[in-house]
Amino acid sequence: MMTRWYSRMVAPLMGPLMAQVCAVATLMAVPAVAADAGAPAPKLIVLVSVDQFSTDLFQQYRSHFTGGLRRLTEGAVFPNGYQSHAATETCPGHSTLMTGDHPARTGIIANDWYSFKGPRPGKIYCAEDESKGSYKAYVPSDVHLKVPTLGERMKAADPEVRTVSVAGKDRAAIMMGGHAVDELWFWKDGQGFISYEGRTAPAAVTAVNEAAMAEIAKPAKEYAEPEWCKAIDMPVAVERKDDVLTVGNGRFARQPGPKAEAQWRASPAFDAAIVDLAVRLIKDMKLGHGKSVDVLTVGASATDYIGHSYGTEGSEMCIQVANLDRTLGKLVAALDATGVDYVLALSADHGGNDIPERERLRGMPMAARVDDGLVSENLGKKVAPLGVDGAELLFGGGNGDVWVGPTVAGSWRTKVVNEALALYRADPQVAAVYTAAEVAAAPAPTGAPDAWSLLDRARASFDPSRSGDLVVFLKPRITAIPSKPASYIATHGSPWDYDRRVPILFWRKGITGFEQPLSVETVDIMPTLAALVGFKLALGDVDGRCLDLDGGSGDTCPVTAQ
Ligand SMILES: [Zn+2]
Repeated sequence: MMTRWYSRMVAPLMGPLMAQVCAVATLMAVPAVAADAGAPAPKLIVLVSVDQFSTDLFQQYRSHFTGGLRRLTEGAVFPNGYQSHAATETCPGHSTLMTGDHPARTGIIANDWYSFKGPRPGKIYCAEDESKGSYKAYVPSDVHLKVPTLGERMKAADPEVRTVSVAGKDRAAIMMGGHAVDELWFWKDGQGFISYEGRTAPAAVTAVNEAAMAEIAKPAKEYAEPEWCKAIDMPVAVERKDDVLTVGNGRFARQPGPKAEAQWRASPAFDAAIVDLAVRLIKDMKLGHGKSVDVLTVGASATDYIGHSYGTEGSEMCIQVANLDRTLGKLVAALDATGVDYVLALSADHGGNDIPERERLRGMPMAARVDDGLVSENLGKKVAPLGVDGAELLFGGGNGDVWVGPTVAGSWRTKVVNEALALYRADPQVAAVYTAAEVAAAPAPTGAPDAWSLLDRARASFDPSRSGDLVVFLKPRITAIPSKPASYIATHGSPWDYDRRVPILFWRKGITGFEQPLSVETVDIMPTLAALVGFKLALGDVDGRCLDLDGGSGDTCPVTAQ
């Protein structure tokens, strides 16, 4: 059965046999054991986050998996995982995976937010230190993450624990790795995999960067299309600002040139490079072979770039999922080859939504792009008769948090908020809008996340020191990118289930596999992994709860007083 809370570990638990033969001083160095029946703990935790891998994609293609995703479907399968909060973006989503907390506690309320009081008034990136750089030339940092990750907690209790975090995006690697990471590497265009300034690249990073740069500099042939992708292979035209883009029948062919790196990132080759780096670090660092449990997090980012560039229901995503399965198969093979007892978990930072142009062709007449008038700076101009410059009035996007600018002072702020509230509420594309006070007054949500109200979802994304003065939710299937987009054509970020639902999968050698349709949360991953390695958490320490991964009579969650 599943139990919710734990007391913090002060020392690894000991098996009964060990207790008879070992002195206490020796026992402290013995690897932690799982809390159920003295089963040995895994020596290596591996968490893979596939950026934008929705439950919809997982279910659509799971019958075709033969590689790493197939292995994971043979373990504990929770198809109804939830990034429960409203702001279903990359940074908040990744902040939940290894902390066990919703963004309301991690502080990562969005990819970007506005702050007019700090060292650099204006737009702030979630994974930067704004005291050091500009928004455009930012300095990557973990300073905004308000809680520790599992690896960081384990490392604090036992310095022999090693933590490694690699990803295609800095925000993914940083939010999963936390504040104490032995190896932290993320892709930076034009530079390859980089880390915080001053860190020395191990040989694995140098080798992968050289291979990636050589690959980007060469023409790339079309990827083969699996037979099962052909049914959805169909061109769809999307009118953009400067061109008409045809998507839906792409194969990732590429020519060298200024666009080659971005095209490479939005192709299966990117995940192959990320996983290649992870595999090399597993081997070079001998992860899982140390005295203590090691923790590796891997952020596979290509699915997200492909979703934004081509939508989710064309040949491009189908080919990507097939190649992701193959690439993750290489990761699993490398882990198997180490002989280490490892636990592999996989989830995603958020789901996704297809382009409205194709959704309307496939039984979804309500699909549309957001009206230009709802973009905050345009809506601000409508509020402008109140007496301030409209362009400086409201900040944010057409969806999610909206901040009132610093030029609006005193009682004018209330007037601006009320006027904006009325304009949003009157718009036929808006589902709901709440003031910060309304969200702050709501209790922290509990219970199954599929039954949460919109206000609950907003509350789980709310941090009073960072959140907007208003939060705006567009109606379902309204894409928050206006017509004639400049670049990306599809996106996520809504409070609706197509953006919230992600698979949560666990595999370990010898696991009795099962499938559980109950809605669970990505914040449950951390306490579940913590329990497996015998790392105890205090009551209320994290938002998530332990999921019992034993499909039989055993229980991988520690039994404690309720
Ligand atoms: Zn993402």
